[in-house]
Amino acid sequence: MESLMKSLQKHVTCSICLDTYTNPKTIACLHTFCCHCLERHARTSARNGKFLCPECQAEMTLPDENRFDKLPTSFHHNSLLSVLGVRQVGDGSEISCDICKKTSLEISYCFDCEKLMCSDCKNAHELFRNAAFKGHKVTPVKQFQDKDYEAMLRRQSFCSQQYHEREPTRFYCTECEMCVCQICINTTHKPHGVEPIEKAADNAKSEILTLAEIMEERITTCDASIRQIEEMEAEMEANVASSKREVSRATDQIVAKARELERDNITALENTRLLNAQKFNSAKQQLQSFAKQFTQAVDLPRRLFKLIRAQILYKTTNKLRPVLKTSTTFQSHHFRLVHQRCLKLYTMTV
Ligand SMILES: [Zn+2]
Ligand SMILES: [Zn+2]
Ligand SMILES: [Zn+2]
Ligand SMILES: [Zn+2]
Ligand SMILES: [Zn+2]
Ligand SMILES: [Zn+2]
Repeated sequence: MESLMKSLQKHVTCSICLDTYTNPKTIACLHTFCCHCLERHARTSARNGKFLCPECQAEMTLPDENRFDKLPTSFHHNSLLSVLGVRQVGDGSEISCDICKKTSLEISYCFDCEKLMCSDCKNAHELFRNAAFKGHKVTPVKQFQDKDYEAMLRRQSFCSQQYHEREPTRFYCTECEMCVCQICINTTHKPHGVEPIEKAADNAKSEILTLAEIMEERITTCDASIRQIEEMEAEMEANVASSKREVSRATDQIVAKARELERDNITALENTRLLNAQKFNSAKQQLQSFAKQFTQAVDLPRRLFKLIRAQILYKTTNKLRPVLKTSTTFQSHHFRLVHQRCLKLYTMTV
């Protein structure tokens, strides 16, 4: 019984408020929600007079004049709710009497009238036991067995029109497309085409089964398309992954090549540097040697000027002059050459 109750609870839970349905309303995609939950959802999310079903995202048109209370009531869910309500009497929840609408814990159920009754209404029912209600089976809901809940689930529905509440809806009005009672077919629906509910149900059943077959074909088509999309998606993923690997591999190759070039160029530059440094060094040494020789050539006459007399100096200078001149000319020629070589070397390296 617990599992029946569990699945019952699941069937009467609103997916918006996650609570048991209050005034369950069914929309065109056949999903059911509490009237106020559905209205709030539609009002906050509606665009251009349309809203999406919170369950299956099917597009729905707002009801006429935004009257959500005028949407079809889910009698199926209401009957599940009443069974669940009966079950909850055991937990101390009161339920209402189908006859006088008073709420009470002391509720009994007549399996023949298919009505819940408070103790007062049950007493009245007892009074007529010998006449109208002869042989009726009445059980307090607190003593309900599994089969009693199941019997209650199968009970017929009663007409919702005012003053017809005691009349079971045994007929179907094909013009109004609704279940009607004996009083209905003699009054409001008199001019309409009416047939017994069982016949209408059989017709509806075969119609629904044919539609269900078409739907099943559509489901198969949808599933095949989904599988096809999934295959394409997997192929795309694999292609992108292998392309990524290819890009990385090519980049690694380019980087390795660039590093190799870098190494070669650095080595070549280092070789040039060593060669030129040697040349600069030898030029520097040569110039340092010239500078020494020049100093010597300048120092000698200076020392002589201090030490010797004018006549001797004159003679000596006469001898020294050509020597100094040749030496200076020769040296400065060489000095220029070396300097030019260094300049050339410098302009080549920078
Ligand atoms: Zn709700
Ligand atoms: Zn839906
Ligand atoms: Zn009552
Ligand atoms: Zn009865
Ligand atoms: Zn009626
Ligand atoms: Zn009608």
